[in-house]
Amino acid sequence: METFLDTVPADTLVVLDEAYREFVTDPDVPDGVELMRGRPNVAVLRTFSKAWGLAGLRVGYLLAEDPAVADAVRRTLVPFSVSTLAQAAAVAALASEDEVRERVASVTTERTRLTAALRERGLAVADSQANFVWLPLGERTVEVAAALEARAVITRPFPGEGLRVTVGSRSEDDVFLGALDDVLTSAAAGVPGA
Ligand SMILES: *Cc1c(COP(=O)(O)O)cnc(C)c1O
Repeated sequence: METFLDTVPADTLVVLDEAYREFVTDPDVPDGVELMRGRPNVAVLRTFSKAWGLAGLRVGYLLAEDPAVADAVRRTLVPFSVSTLAQAAAVAALASEDEVRERVASVTTERTRLTAALRERGLAVADSQANFVWLPLGERTVEVAAALEARAVITRPFPGEGLRVTVGSRSEDDVFLGALDDVLTSAAAGVPGA
């Protein structure tokens, strides 16, 4: 990241989207707020939509050293304003930091278990630093997503690439794993549409 940022021309703004920052457990993952220091062309975005659980309220924030960046963003305030209700909710959410930390810890613990369970099934799942895991299923993606959905498990397919699976509770993830076993076994047996 440092090499990249040092290469980008000073008049080009680099925006680091850290929507999943709270779920990062790998100490080698760079921290945008630290990277931003001393680099006026870097801005960091964070949100209350994920770890803080306020997705419906559309509230987040931007951090940048150069006041010109904030000024330019303020000019778009009319279409993208944050409502008074959302601001009140965000301030209230900041008071529940302990609860958020606990929720994040249960997600990251379950993420480790889910990743291991998928690897045991021979799937090449990369380490995740977010609240979801990525299943690279290539051409089988749409078919597997549809078969999972028929078993009441909703994932997010990216056709031709893979499935994004949100980390749930342990019992939710067990339902997903059971359905996945069912789908992959049926596919291996050549059952049409399974
Ligand atoms: C959720 C998310 C955001 C932030 O969404 P808002 O609800 O608009 O705050 C930004 N980037 C990514 C990649 C996300 O997943």
